[in-house]
Amino acid sequence: MELIKKNISAVQARIEACMADAGRDHNSLQLLAVSKTRSEKYIQSAFANGLNAFGENYLQEAVNKIQALESLAAEWHFIGPLQSNKTKPVAENFSWVHAVDRIKIAKRLNDQRPENLRPLNICLQINIDNEPSKSGVAPNEAIDLALAVSELPNLCLRGLMAIPMARQDIDSQRQPFRALRLLKEDINQQLDKSQKLDTLSMGMSGDIEAAILEGATILRVGTDIFGPRTEKVDNKEI
Ligand SMILES: *Cc1c(COP(=O)(O)O)cnc(C)c1O
Repeated sequence: MELIKKNISAVQARIEACMADAGRDHNSLQLLAVSKTRSEKYIQSAFANGLNAFGENYLQEAVNKIQALESLAAEWHFIGPLQSNKTKPVAENFSWVHAVDRIKIAKRLNDQRPENLRPLNICLQINIDNEPSKSGVAPNEAIDLALAVSELPNLCLRGLMAIPMARQDIDSQRQPFRALRLLKEDINQQLDKSQKLDTLSMGMSGDIEAAILEGATILRVGTDIFGPRTEKVDNKEI
């Protein structure tokens, strides 16, 4: 677990340096530790080293961990793809959902959000490179979806999320992130003042710097914090 401590320091140093280069205030960025496939002791270690927000992709695994780690004051983000018949445990157990890409899912989350909890924070997943096999709403359909989701009282539409195609150099990596930032600005022109989007969930281990330079507000980082993922994940469940 010493390794996690070292990894977190190294990632934070990269982030600080890049935020300084970009002239950004470090409070404007949240580091989300992507803990899918990692056991509870990894999460406890990351928490002990200052991280308190965790991203999970696989519902049953996530709910087990959330229950086991109830005593930790952690914030849980569901970042995986979501089927409509799996929305209830998400609405009940998480603070954020990053990959909403259709109104049906949003309505179910809205209806299933328990009354005693605050509105569920939502990001719309955008298929920013228009890849045929990728989930996410097409960029040109995002405004309509955002307007519809913003009407739902038990949800709080916060922003946009994307997982761009892999690109090698930083200039190419910045392009889809820039497109996501501009799309957020377009959408904000259509939303009431009280509903403006404030979140860009973008940037993973391989493209942290590019995302920061284009205005990311949540970085979703797994490998650079916890090391390479070795377990083969059961995708059937999601
Ligand atoms: C796994 C995952 C990440 C983290 O990826 P790393 O390359 O390990 O940093 C981020 N976002 C989503 C949606 C993921 O599924």
